Amino acid sequence: MGAGRVRGGYLFFVLSVLLFCSPVFASAAPPAGLQVDEIRYGGGGRTTRIVFDLNQQTDFRAFLIDAPYRIVVDLPKAEWKTFKSRLISNNPVIKSYRSGELDDGLTRVIFDIKKPAVINNIFTIAKNGMDKDRLVIDLEPSSPNTFNAQKSRVFGNRQLHGSAAVKTPSGSGYAAIENDLVKAVIPGGTSKPSSILHKEQKIYTIVIDPGHGGEDPGAEASGAKEKFITLSVARELRRQFEETGRYKVVLTRDKDVYIKLHDRVAISRDVKGDLFISIHADKIDRKGVRGASIYTLSEKASDTETARLAEEENNAGFVAGVDLSQETQDVADILLDLAMREKMNESNLFARMLSQSLQRKNVQLLPNSHRSAGFAVLKAPDVPSVLIETGFISNPDEAKLLSSGQFQRNISAAILDGVDGYFRKIQALQKL
Ligand code: ZN
Repeated sequence: MGAGRVRGGYLFFVLSVLLFCSPVFASAAPPAGLQVDEIRYGGGGRTTRIVFDLNQQTDFRAFLIDAPYRIVVDLPKAEWKTFKSRLISNNPVIKSYRSGELDDGLTRVIFDIKKPAVINNIFTIAKNGMDKDRLVIDLEPSSPNTFNAQKSRVFGNRQLHGSAAVKTPSGSGYAAIENDLVKAVIPGGTSKPSSILHKEQKIYTIVIDPGHGGEDPGAEASGAKEKFITLSVARELRRQFEETGRYKVVLTRDKDVYIKLHDRVAISRDVKGDLFISIHADKIDRKGVRGASIYTLSEKASDTETARLAEEENNAGFVAGVDLSQETQDVADILLDLAMREKMNESNLFARMLSQSLQRKNVQLLPNSHRSAGFAVLKAPDVPSVLIETGFISNPDEAKLLSSGQFQRNISAAILDGVDGYFRKIQALQKL
């Protein structure tokens, strides 16, 4: 990796060019917009270096987020001349990156890393002969503790804004490694990076899917029908969610009708749901068994689904915000896989929060209450999805409970609690 390293004989040549051509710098008008030409990797020893090749010098901001470990790099609105998302093979630290545009126009790049690593150094280098303007980030593997300690730090321009003016070359070659503003605003480093990006309160769209319906009654036992329990719970959920003013709720069905599984997923994708929750009630031969459980899509089922989707949607345009029509089959597969994995991470995070909130509200749970399976309704690649088995109607006591308004209010409050916790976490993680 040659970025940032100056080659001996070349230096003299470059210096001469700079000396004799300096009026060019003085008179050059600032270029129109930032452009990311390439993202390169390299390193030596313990250091992994990320280099952004750019068309001009720029302001930047970088910080760490965990669960999973990631590095976030924000730039002013930038045009991409290279892959917007990419899997990185053969790098000991970096797994992949993906980029997107924030609401205020900022360009955000997120690097997924294989293990905790901290930012050792981050700086810009002005263009130099054949080398372009660069943003260089040196990473060093660290302990989880060191990573956590650096999470509260913001490198670069903390106040970076989407419409921020792009810096003109300073001549020194190096921009701020960590500017004073950061230290001034985060005394003691106790603030979380999330606080700097506080946005307007977002209204999240929650898709609630009452299982079964119409000619498909679902499980039937102890005089109870699954399709009625799921619809009652879904309506109670909608009431409680809407009452908060923080959520918009879409039900996949609001009456006793049959809806295909595929159509339930389609609804969730059409309304651009932030979360999909499918409600069910279970039945088993052993009457003693009771308790709720939460399902997310299994890895294996997801792989099959990814392959199918990749095939089906290769020419169909956007999936999970990725324009697949512009990519080759290989790249489309990789991007879809990345999107799917990201949603699975989010689904798993939500399932964990849900399991905790159900316990807090004393909803009885099955042992190992978070499970995975290949449920068709969990297969939207763009919407984090979980399926809740609220309990077993094959257990007469639980059948009675599931049909009661009091239980339905309580489990709905628990689910709302889990959803609140999930979005707080997501906001803290500064998701795209
Ligand atoms: Zn069911």
